[in-house]
Amino acid sequence: MDYALILTQIAAEVQPLVGKGRVAEYIPPLASVRADRFGMALRTVDGAQYATGDADERFSIQSIAKVFALTLAMRLEGDGIWNRVGREPSGSAFNSLVQLEVERGIPRNPFINAGALVVLDAILNHGDDLLLPFIREAAGNESISYDLEVAEGERRTGHRNRAMAHFLKSFGNLQNDAGRVLDAYFRLCSIAMSCSELARAFSYLAGGGGSIATARQAKRVNAVMLTCGVYDEAGDYAYRVGLPAKSGVGGGVVAVMPGKFTAAVWSPGLSEKGNSLAGTMALELLTTKTAISIF
Ligand code: GLN
Repeated sequence: MDYALILTQIAAEVQPLVGKGRVAEYIPPLASVRADRFGMALRTVDGAQYATGDADERFSIQSIAKVFALTLAMRLEGDGIWNRVGREPSGSAFNSLVQLEVERGIPRNPFINAGALVVLDAILNHGDDLLLPFIREAAGNESISYDLEVAEGERRTGHRNRAMAHFLKSFGNLQNDAGRVLDAYFRLCSIAMSCSELARAFSYLAGGGGSIATARQAKRVNAVMLTCGVYDEAGDYAYRVGLPAKSGVGGGVVAVMPGKFTAAVWSPGLSEKGNSLAGTMALELLTTKTAISIF
């Protein structure tokens, strides 16, 4: 498979979509990112890596980081984590409060904000600051870090997330102080990585877990990504792309083809549902051109 050629073709074919859509605007550091960026990286399970466009520029990975949080929580808590959070697509916005009320404080899945708060709460029971070292371990890169300006923006504007954390607390599904959990959440959203770094960091999910997770855990994280990884667009993703994937409002998306490769893409213009417009098209082209998908 000539992945280098395929990435070059994809970069050319998505151009009409690059710069289209809306860039996330709720905090200045995201609103000021130029919309006309596009980068993509692919890493095979053998460790060969390919890249095109702005693949080496760091961006705010936002909700993509929730995958690392879930993996770490599964490592620390095993299946116990599923007593506190579900694994069904939410069918509503990632920051919905209504669903949490109706379902009595058990978030639908670990990738909506309420679910991520519960996952972080579980991690905090094992110690402070476990996540960043874990992400660095997965990435094989000690320079991965928080973007403090983004974290500050999240903190300043995070009223709905605050409401959610206290809501969870009122249902008894948050064991730590809500402020402590929120602080971990705001920092998690602010992790900055490039497509190349993400493709490498996610490679444990394509390679049966590696040293990061057991094969069973990797399989299950992929399953949750397939059904819950791209907000309320999971059906469309399964149909068009056919790979487990996780997106973030910074315009990044990472997709996993178990046994073969990981692919990370970034373009900040978002669809109505909050996924990168050009990024989704790029992943669709990838599975079309390679004729490889989980289906
Ligand atoms: N940080 C934002 C929030 O918590 C968005 C996270 C995301 O990528 N969905 O609302």
